Amino acid sequence: MLSKEILKELGNFSLQPYFITTLYLNVSPLSNPKGEYKIIWKDLKKNFLESLNLEGEIKKSVLSDLEYIENLIDQVSFGSANTIVLMSCSAKDWRYQIPLYPILKNKLVIDKDPYTRPLSYLITANKPYYLVVLSRGDARVFKYFIGEIREEGEIKEEIPKKHKQGGWEASDWQRWHETHVIWHFKEVAEFLDKKIQGEEKIVLGTTSPKNTSEFLDVLPKRLHEKIIGEIPIELDSPINEILEKTHNMIEAHEENEINDLIDQLIVTNAKGKEAVIGLEDVAHAVHQKRVRMILVYDQFEQPGFQCPSCSFMSPYLENCPYCNVKMEKRADIVDELIEEAIINNSELKYIKNKELAEKIKNIGAFLRF
Ligand SMILES: [Zn+2]
Repeated sequence: MLSKEILKELGNFSLQPYFITTLYLNVSPLSNPKGEYKIIWKDLKKNFLESLNLEGEIKKSVLSDLEYIENLIDQVSFGSANTIVLMSCSAKDWRYQIPLYPILKNKLVIDKDPYTRPLSYLITANKPYYLVVLSRGDARVFKYFIGEIREEGEIKEEIPKKHKQGGWEASDWQRWHETHVIWHFKEVAEFLDKKIQGEEKIVLGTTSPKNTSEFLDVLPKRLHEKIIGEIPIELDSPINEILEKTHNMIEAHEENEINDLIDQLIVTNAKGKEAVIGLEDVAHAVHQKRVRMILVYDQFEQPGFQCPSCSFMSPYLENCPYCNVKMEKRADIVDELIEEAIINNSELKYIKNKELAEKIKNIGAFLRF
């Protein structure tokens, strides 16, 4: 599961003087029903080789990286991953692979360190969810992040069984039993309270409405707001089923959320100046450090120009309107804009749905007052 720790490790990684080759390739069966990604890879490689400007051992290492990647792409099936991230430095015999569920833009980059920018955007734009599957006496807690799930812990409570013992009425036993169940739910609530310190959200997986309501009674108030919904699930459901149900609920929740944000953006934009739509206006707002939240289609790319002096970007202006110097050509200014916005504390939200993204010309932003 992708995490800040992995990102940090890769960010500090270097094998200089050699370069590291990084490939992001969309291998999703949906976008590549006939394995089209193999052709896309060949194009990426061709463009890359045309601009390759290296010598000697360093060049040799990069060329071996390409060969290694090509072999993998030709021979390996990437399972359920939609994007595969491959990193390689042949001179040092170093390789790294990250299969991902989200669909990322295709990119081939060589640099002194692994190219991790799209990964860091993913972490910025997505928050983890916790799934709690509850029963009386047992609970399992799972962490879900961008299409992957893993178990974080199982919490069991010894619930006393009802049996005959001198002096105890059936009602006493019942009460004793119920007390243990409440202790158990409290323990689960405490576990979640400790885990959830940031913007994570909660999905409840329950076996009965009684369990849910008793659990909610002991769950701290601040965690109630984090619950996005409930799914019917058994404690011993297979992990694939748990993942699928959780995933579907989260996807629907996020699609609603982004839908609302886009509607809100359009209304705010129509009313006045606190929201911008389209690349050009977003570029100005980013330059003025006014962006509070940036919404962008996850496949959006656009070549353009960037000012060498103040970094202003534009899809078409060749001279910087801020400093009147000639701007430099860039193959894609969208990622650069996102980067600038994040540096200036903007939130990032990805739009996965193409039609939805078109409503705001693929990119838009809420501004600070
Ligand atoms: Zn400038």
